[in-house]
Amino acid sequence: MISHFVGGKPWTGASTRTGDVFDPATGEIAESVLFASAADVEHAVGVAAAAAKSWKDTSLAKRSAVLFAFREIMSARRDDLAAVITAQHGKVLSDAAGEVQRGLEVVEYACGIPTLIRAGFSENVSTGVDTYAIRQPLGVVAVISPFNFPAMVPLWFVPIAIAAGNTVVLKPSEKDPGAAVLLAEWFAEAGLPEGVFNVVHGDREAVDALLDHPTVKAVSFVGSTPIARYVYERGTANGKRVQALGGAKNHMVVLPDADLDLAADAAVNAGFGSAGERCMAISVVVAVDPAGDALVDRIASRMAAIRTGDGRRGCDMGPLVTGAHRDRVASYVEAGISAGATAVVDGRDPAVDGAPGGFWLGPTLFDHVTPDMSIYTDEIFGPVLSVVRAGTYDEALKLVNDSPYGNGTAIFTNDGGAARRFQHEVEAGMVGVNVPIPVPMAYYSFGGWKASLFGDTHAHGLEGVHFYTRGKVVTSRWLDPSHGGLNLGFPTQT
Ligand code: NAD
Repeated sequence: MISHFVGGKPWTGASTRTGDVFDPATGEIAESVLFASAADVEHAVGVAAAAAKSWKDTSLAKRSAVLFAFREIMSARRDDLAAVITAQHGKVLSDAAGEVQRGLEVVEYACGIPTLIRAGFSENVSTGVDTYAIRQPLGVVAVISPFNFPAMVPLWFVPIAIAAGNTVVLKPSEKDPGAAVLLAEWFAEAGLPEGVFNVVHGDREAVDALLDHPTVKAVSFVGSTPIARYVYERGTANGKRVQALGGAKNHMVVLPDADLDLAADAAVNAGFGSAGERCMAISVVVAVDPAGDALVDRIASRMAAIRTGDGRRGCDMGPLVTGAHRDRVASYVEAGISAGATAVVDGRDPAVDGAPGGFWLGPTLFDHVTPDMSIYTDEIFGPVLSVVRAGTYDEALKLVNDSPYGNGTAIFTNDGGAARRFQHEVEAGMVGVNVPIPVPMAYYSFGGWKASLFGDTHAHGLEGVHFYTRGKVVTSRWLDPSHGGLNLGFPTQT
């Protein structure tokens, strides 16, 4: 049984409600996870609030020392974390290792908190008067994360929130909760005081309890758009700071002058990596005339080499996370065919290197997809890649900009002017130029536009530091006899 982690140790809480955690590569229930009740969340938030009192006054040197120690532990045991991710999520081991690495980079960024949190000082803003800014932690903050990056997404937030002096309650996805528990154990081992980082598992009941709890001052959410909108609305209605990152439908525009071999490699890697279960996956390729036929041929021929199977066996693409999700994605393949798209590759009956009960679906490629089809409009979140043909750059740009989502996008071209125009005109938060998955490094900020993000603050980088701190500006004068006298006017510089 996977239990909560509260106050520096495993904690079972009072609720006996549980959920199944599958091994997606076998289809078997591997473990159960406890689901917190509102009362359990109340307890965890109370523990976090008690810890916040001393953690916020712990020196920057001590806070960054804990992060450095955690970084060493996580780096040394990265394979253990990747193994847990593959066992519960299904993504192949090399992909899980990549996720761990990207999470580790945020930890390394947070180690620099003494510099990151530094604010300004102005001497003599008025004669004998100094003004300086300080940034202080918020208190207890909540992080609610999705299944698709069970380590990396919590690590977008947790290290920075902790480094900035907050205490955290994380509610990871109930589908693959093991990675979060491992992180909590390692933070405790790194010397993080009890109660600074807590994990509660569960579903909507736990989420609602966090959104409604007056002690929780900020919420970082990542997940699907409908839930992101809900979390944003409920959290802000309760007076909290909320950043809620939602779903995506990422377009990759391929201009006819692009290197079509490189573009095809990119489309396959970004379309089918992690079985398409990435918020930055490419799900639509917009081929600008006359690139279409040659590009589709190249993508299809590469797909023939993809080995679908158990992520522990060196395959390229693993199973989907649950049987229900696999069936939903497969239903989109059916819908695409019914709507008249050309199924160049139909992944519904894949040859698999894995157990027969796994949640398998091979990669699917559709050509001649049109914007009215559900395979185009909906976030499928599976290994289904759609190719839309466009006559011109302007038509391609309009497709991207008409999407309700605006997470990531990419352009493939050898024309610097076209690329520059695209980065200027496109409505998305993360743009790749000949880079299909432009996930910013930890020291930049990650986030989309439109229905891909509710709130205005992106994850990690300086925006992350800003999100987890409140600004305060102090104006100070140390009195001497020359400062006397009566003056009821509004203070101005003299
Ligand atoms: P999800 O929205 O189903 O779940 C996300 C979190 O919300 C989980 O912790 C879950 O327990 C909780 N939740 C689910 N239903 C809820 C409800 N009704 N009320 C309150 N909480 C609820 O998302 P998922 O399926 O775990 O993850 C996949 C989605 O996440 C995709 O849409 C993907 O694009 C998105 N995602 C976005 C980003 C990004 O940076 N924009 C990153 C990763 C994933």
